Amino acid sequence: MTKHPEEQLSAYLDDELTQDERKEIEAHLETCESCQELLEAMAVNNDDLVQTFSLIEAPMDLEVRVMQSIASEEGRQFAGNGRILALLLGLLTLGLFYLLTGAIIGKLIHGWSKLAITLIYASSHFILSVPALTGGTIVLSLFILVTSFISLRRLLQTSAS
Ligand SMILES: [Zn+2]
Repeated sequence: MTKHPEEQLSAYLDDELTQDERKEIEAHLETCESCQELLEAMAVNNDDLVQTFSLIEAPMDLEVRVMQSIASEEGRQFAGNGRILALLLGLLTLGLFYLLTGAIIGKLIHGWSKLAITLIYASSHFILSVPALTGGTIVLSLFILVTSFISLRRLLQTSAS
C-alpha cells in the first residue's frame, strides 16, 4: 500500500473493516508514522465526541428524569397536601366557629351577669337609701333580670340549634 489509507482510518477505528482491510491498515500503520498520528488524533477526537455526546445526553436525560420525578413527587405531595389542607381548614373553621361563638356567648354571659350584679347592687343600695321607691325598683330590677335571663336563654337556644 503506497497511498495513506486516511479515509479508511475512521472505518478502522469504528471497526467497520473486513479482516483483510484491517490487516492492510495495520500493516501500513506499522510503517507509517503520519497515519499512526492521524489515527491517534482520530481516536482522541472520537473519544471526545463520545464523551461530549454522553455529557450532553446525560444531563438531558438526567434533567428529564429529575423533572419527571419532581413532577410526580409534586403531584403526590399536592394531593397529600390538598387532603391535609382541607382537613386543617375544616378543623380551623370548626375551631374558629367554636372559639367565636364561645367568646361571644362567654362575653354576653359575662356582660349580662355583670350588668345584673350591678343592677342588683345599685337597686339594693337605692332601696336602702330611698325606702319610698322600694316597690318600684324591685319590680324594675326583677324586670331587668327576667329580660336578661330570657335573652340569654334565647341566645343559648339559637346557638345550640
Ligand atoms: Zn500512511
